[in-house]
Amino acid sequence: MTERLSHFIGGAPVAPSSGEHFTSTNPATLEPLYEAARGNDEDVRRAVGAAKAAFESPSWSRLSPTKRGRLLRNLGDLIAENAEELARFESLDNGKLLREMRGQLTTLPEYYYYYGGLADKVQGAQIPTSSFEMLNYTQREPLGVVGAITPWNSPLTLTTSKIAPALAAGNTVVIKPSEYTSRTILRVAELAIEAGFPDGVVNVVTGFGAEAGAPLVSHPDLAKISFTGSTQTGARIAAEAARRFIGCTLELGGKSPNIVFDDADVANAAMGVIAGIYAAAGQTCIAGSRVFAHKAIYDELLERVTERARTIRIGDPLVDSTELGPLAFADQLSKVSSYVDLGVSEGASVRVGGGRPDIDLPGYFYAPTVLTDVDNSMRVVREEIFGPVAAIMPFETEDELVALANDTEYGLAAGVWTQNLARAHRMARRLDAGTIWVNTYRAMSPMSPRQGYKNSGVGIEHGLESMNEYTRLKSVWINT
Ligand code: NAD
Repeated sequence: MTERLSHFIGGAPVAPSSGEHFTSTNPATLEPLYEAARGNDEDVRRAVGAAKAAFESPSWSRLSPTKRGRLLRNLGDLIAENAEELARFESLDNGKLLREMRGQLTTLPEYYYYYGGLADKVQGAQIPTSSFEMLNYTQREPLGVVGAITPWNSPLTLTTSKIAPALAAGNTVVIKPSEYTSRTILRVAELAIEAGFPDGVVNVVTGFGAEAGAPLVSHPDLAKISFTGSTQTGARIAAEAARRFIGCTLELGGKSPNIVFDDADVANAAMGVIAGIYAAAGQTCIAGSRVFAHKAIYDELLERVTERARTIRIGDPLVDSTELGPLAFADQLSKVSSYVDLGVSEGASVRVGGGRPDIDLPGYFYAPTVLTDVDNSMRVVREEIFGPVAAIMPFETEDELVALANDTEYGLAAGVWTQNLARAHRMARRLDAGTIWVNTYRAMSPMSPRQGYKNSGVGIEHGLESMNEYTRLKSVWINT
């Protein structure tokens, strides 16, 4: 019998009020991993109640910001101490390479150190006004109970991006992780207690979006919702937040261009294109899924990318030498494969991949795929596939390229490969995306703010700016 997990509410494991659980499966082997608690509105009520009580309790609300920062740093230390376990849990859950997860776990504590350091630097200002007698100052206050709803593709990092600044600013949190990856965040909530956070400051309700996520967003005591996931779900959450006049931060989908100019180091750019689309089997919001190559180097780039894609070692994500693991669950596999079929029916050519690789694991594997003979009118180029599928297209002039690259509903990120400094800066200015990488791809840091443009998001994550997402500003006037 597999292990049964509970929610984590008020500082302790809490069984689901329905008594129901659901099975989480290893996507590489299809073996059951554990049973997660199936949350419902009653569980959400309990969790928000615990978070509200904790927010009002002196042990949290009167804790000095410096001590609050200390707790965040303790949590960072505990995550570092438990890195191997967390990396393994996440790799088993969503099929990400264990090697890559170990890398992520070296950065994850930094989020808690960074925001722990900011906890006692949240401050207002004294504002000059036209009236000599009036003293006007501002102060920043925590919001209250913050909801964090996150996807399955990178649960630890994406949840941490929300809860670290939210806690540093003095809020309490209720987390609803994806139904595909319940485990790691439950473990972080346990570690938060070990780190010294008072009961109820960090709560987790596991379960499905409609059953546990929706009641969280509509709970009257929720002060803010911070969401990462698909643009479709984000739109629903934004509508509910607007109805209730609560703030929301949304980190949504993408269809990012990765652009290779004729003056680029093509060998290096090809590696960047590969990493941009095949890391995590293409299941990243920032995947460089639209590759634009200048006509002069198009053939060379295509050759290099297809050659490398053909030799990528596909297999068990726990094995060190594996370079590409499975997709995270069955629907992901059918979605990716039906997009490739759709592309072919629209006239695309499959240069490499395009189906299940020949390996002896039963999981949801899909070979790294390159499509050519594609253009911006096709759905495979316009819609987020969220799998290891690159569409490679030629371009001739910079103006043509900018028009093509910006012709998308998304605006999460863009990559530019060039050795021309002026062009690099010009592209950074002209591309309509919240993050621009030049001669690199996927670089990220808790210190560097990021924001999705257009349908890729609302609000800022990471960096100093993200603290403002979790505070509100009060203006105080005193007649002296
Ligand atoms: P999803 O939108 O299906 O689910 C995300 C979360 O929302 C899950 O926890 C789910 O249970 C919950 N949810 C679903 N319906 C809900 C509802 N009606 N009310 C409240 N919660 C609900 O997304 P996913 O498939 O888990 O993740 C993949 C998507 O996430 C991709 O589009 C990807 O681009 C995006 N993503 C964005 C970023 C970013 O930083 N911009 C990062 C990672 C992933």
